[in-house]
Amino acid sequence: MPLSNNFFEDTKYCPCCREYVLYLKSPKANYCVDCGARVRLFSAADKRAFNHQLELEKRRRINAHNKRVS
Ligand SMILES: [Zn+2]
Repeated sequence: MPLSNNFFEDTKYCPCCREYVLYLKSPKANYCVDCGARVRLFSAADKRAFNHQLELEKRRRINAHNKRVS
């Protein structure tokens, strides 16, 4: 079986290990393979950065749209 070509698709943030880890999938939650804590998609800091990036992207698109119209 080929390995995933994108390592980060198969990792999530473990607040216990404080890093991105491989995780076990279960229907209710995902768990760190190292310590068994619940993992999240992003760390809190990364989530802020991600949301900020989305916001910038949204504004950039709206601006680009407005420029084309006017
Ligand atoms: Zn962990």
